[in-house]
Amino acid sequence: MWDSFHEKLSVVDPEVWEVVCGDLARQNDGINLIASESYPSRAVLQAAGSILTNKYAEGYSRKRYYGGCEFVDRCEDLAVERAKKLFGADHVNVQPHSGSQANMAVYMAMLDPGDTILGMDLSHGGHLTHGFKVSFSGKIYRGEKYFVSRETGQLDYSEVAAVAKETHPKLIVCGYSAYPRTIDFKAFREIADDVGAYLMADIAHIAGLVAAGVHPSPVEYADFITTTTHKTLCGPRGAIVMCRGEYAQAIDKSVFPGIQGGPFMHLIAARAVAFREAMKPEWKRMQENIVANSKTLASKMLELGFDLVSGGTDNHLMLADLRSKNLTGTVAEAALGEAGITLNKNTIPYDPEKPFVTSGVRIGTPCVTIRGMGGSEMDLIAGWINDVLNSPEDASVKKRVLDEVKVLCGKYPVYPKDEC
Ligand code: PLP
Repeated sequence: MWDSFHEKLSVVDPEVWEVVCGDLARQNDGINLIASESYPSRAVLQAAGSILTNKYAEGYSRKRYYGGCEFVDRCEDLAVERAKKLFGADHVNVQPHSGSQANMAVYMAMLDPGDTILGMDLSHGGHLTHGFKVSFSGKIYRGEKYFVSRETGQLDYSEVAAVAKETHPKLIVCGYSAYPRTIDFKAFREIADDVGAYLMADIAHIAGLVAAGVHPSPVEYADFITTTTHKTLCGPRGAIVMCRGEYAQAIDKSVFPGIQGGPFMHLIAARAVAFREAMKPEWKRMQENIVANSKTLASKMLELGFDLVSGGTDNHLMLADLRSKNLTGTVAEAALGEAGITLNKNTIPYDPEKPFVTSGVRIGTPCVTIRGMGGSEMDLIAGWINDVLNSPEDASVKKRVLDEVKVLCGKYPVYPKDEC
């Protein structure tokens, strides 16, 4: 055994330890409005950091290509059974390493190269893997696009139907990275049926809301449902694919051996923990609060004179259109970052700016809600955003907000400081 085998990280690698402690302080001391992030529980983190990372388990429960899988089989069974119960799905594959791989698994299972995928345009809220040119999904397949309405900023289902008729997709994707409104999965089913396409719902962003019944579920309507487990679901990094029973074998073969090797058993264990937590009434209440906080924050932002794409939100996020403030997303992201508020620049529909600059910011409430903040804190946050964005160059405003943010965050710690 080598000398430091039993030593702690802080002793073995102080440089990496410093990174962990630095980010712990950043997470505790700042306000995180990134809509795609969340804070998993300590139990989830413990499973994710467990010795299960050591285990090779290619294959599926009781059909492995390695010995010694009796414990990890149990853990994958738990994850599958709990996910099936949580979402009411026929079949669940819990092995995808990421949301992109979950989407790839569905495409590889059901499509041939050159087939058409119809998804929402990236700059309107779609994801790279929904057929965008720089991604495998737009290179191997033909990516066609639908858009939100220029007038309402919302999906226009008759317009989507018209694009589907024109483009003859083999698969239609609904579910987005930056869409603040409720998705009508039934309408998408009808559109898919009209053109004989498969329907895939990528609920990566809203999975927690769906699990809690705060957003309608696509289970009755979609052939395939993919989701990351690290966004509103509050689990570890990774993803799952859900499907109707008839596609179970094709999906499983597509994930392994199609596109992945050994599953990350430590993360599958952590997924199982997250699914168990998601069945608790207080977890569901927390999801309700995420949406309630989002609506409160949105109405306060509107009151303060911000333009929000679609005029508000139904879910955990909103998109602020900063053109009326003569600001780009890049400038806003940087100024708010200096004031202790982390969010991301984001294109708005029909954005005149380049994707690296953007005219908007995406604002999400999962993280602030998980740490216990409520309506009055949303009012404070909206006020701080307003103060900073009204004078993004003013160092004294940013310093004042940074100090106030720290005081508020001190009252709502995310993880105990003694971790470091
Ligand atoms: N699908 C949607 C809608 C997403 O928003 C994302 C990530 O942001 C993904 C898929 C991809 O997930 P990952 O980053 O795990 O590949």
